[in-house]
Amino acid sequence: MITTSLVLIGIQFYCGISTATTLTSGATACTNLTTLLGLGKVSSNPLDLRYIASREDYWNGLQSVYQPSCIVYPVSAQDVSIALQAIRVSGSRFAVKAGGHNTNNFFSSVDNGVLIDLGSMNGKSHNSSSTLATYEPGSTFGELYDYYAQFGRTVLGPTLAGVGTGAALGGGLSYLSPQYGMACDDFRELEVVLPSGEIVIASPESYADLFFGLRGGGGNAYGVVTKYTVQSRPIGRLYAGNLVYLFEQNDAVVDAIQAFMQYNPDPKASIVATYLKLPTPDLDLNLDEAILMFLVYDGPDAGDLFKNFTSIPYLLNTMSLKTYPEVINMPIPFLAELTRGDNIFRVGVHRVIDDDSHERAIGAWRDWAETNKGAYELLTFDYEPVPKSLTDASNAQNGGNAMQMPDGPWVWISYILETPQGMSQADYDAVQASFAKMVDSVGNAGGLPLFVNDAGFDQNPLATFSTYSELQQIKAKYDPDGFFAQKTGGWSFA
Ligand SMILES: Cc1cc2nc3c(=O)[nH]c(=O)nc-3n(C[C@H](O)[C@H](O)[C@H](O)COP(=O)(O)OP(=O)(O)OC[C@H]3O[C@@H](n4cnc5c(N)ncnc54)[C@H](O)[C@@H]3O)c2cc1C
Repeated sequence: MITTSLVLIGIQFYCGISTATTLTSGATACTNLTTLLGLGKVSSNPLDLRYIASREDYWNGLQSVYQPSCIVYPVSAQDVSIALQAIRVSGSRFAVKAGGHNTNNFFSSVDNGVLIDLGSMNGKSHNSSSTLATYEPGSTFGELYDYYAQFGRTVLGPTLAGVGTGAALGGGLSYLSPQYGMACDDFRELEVVLPSGEIVIASPESYADLFFGLRGGGGNAYGVVTKYTVQSRPIGRLYAGNLVYLFEQNDAVVDAIQAFMQYNPDPKASIVATYLKLPTPDLDLNLDEAILMFLVYDGPDAGDLFKNFTSIPYLLNTMSLKTYPEVINMPIPFLAELTRGDNIFRVGVHRVIDDDSHERAIGAWRDWAETNKGAYELLTFDYEPVPKSLTDASNAQNGGNAMQMPDGPWVWISYILETPQGMSQADYDAVQASFAKMVDSVGNAGGLPLFVNDAGFDQNPLATFSTYSELQQIKAKYDPDGFFAQKTGGWSFA
């Protein structure tokens, strides 16, 4: 256990720091935080450039509507501890933000409360002898991949550069996952500031239950992770790229995806398939549809592994030898950012052997797209395969993660809905309800976990985990008075 600043903060509160009820709780917290941490680490001015950048940098633009009472920029676990204790004393709401890519309201945003922006905590290291890497929570994964490349290594994380480290707490699906498991499976030690303000090290040896809950159960439930120590992995040149197909190939591509998910023999080969719907007229012919395949082989020669995809006529083929940072920056950056806007995620999970439910899912998605023209700027439907090699690799490390991943192959389907800006609240709510109904209508495979990272706020993915009651107990142990449960957003443990 690390010495905390509990005593220090206790003394300071007795030295005249405000608990005034004349201020709102957010304003009280901010006044106290400015005193405790100094102006350099707290911004209460919505016109301050740093405040503006934090407030605007959300992948779901609707989160930027909310106005924090102040934004705190900790540089250490001690700062986070002081912030949590001051927030607790004031009774204010708060949010913890890393990369700001979670689309759910109040998961990493807050209105009239304290936003803890972890962006200044961006230390990182690599130990060539132990091959362990460390990183603080403030970097994007793109920055981490760039950094570790100099050692011929990488860490597991998401498939796009801009995503933040909260992705690893939600599991973290990587192109390398079929070989090594989820990003969270590579955790070896986590420095965590508990809801009490205490700073602890969670690992298989100490606070093992906390370590378990934090591997795939999502962020902001049990505390704030201030440092990750993870197993790094070797990386060299990869044969990778995008294939872009137009609508007339969509059924052929689905067949190729199905065959890959069922029969791919090589864990070094990885795919993500994104079906895109544009708001242009459809005329019942899927004329508004394009398909963007991401094909990645961890090595220079993929042999025939992607032949089923390359033999389908395509519009564009960018397959070539690439570095890992280049792979993570495909496709062309403007496409990667295309969906930044007023958008939400939802997720489904399906088996892929003797089960056609993922085909029903794409059918339901197409029907919805056709009958709801005008209600979206962009729709995407992603196949995120979970092969058996992934679940084997996951379960072989530290007894498996919080999902206790059942044997693959199965597939997560990630849906993104981007709504037009400026919709009335009533229209927005109606579109969201209709979209959720469409996803729900397909149903999910029993006994498989929904992916925390792709889930809508009302899907409560943790309840689909076989470990849910264990996670509830861990939550009750580390957040005994419901400070996090009541004062910040996140998954319900009710
Ligand atoms: C364009 C895009 C691409 C994506 N690609 C992938 C992918 O390839 N693989 C994948 O697995 N996921 C992917 N995701 C999903 C992504 O993993 C989740 O949205 C994740 O929550 C984002 O983490 P973040 O740090 O960027 O977001 P944030 O919104 O900042 O954080 C997410 C959640 O974690 C909490 N949190 C963050 N850091 C901490 C911490 N240190 N301690 C405690 N709680 C914390 C936050 O409070 C919040 O609830 C993608 C998302 C987008 C938008």
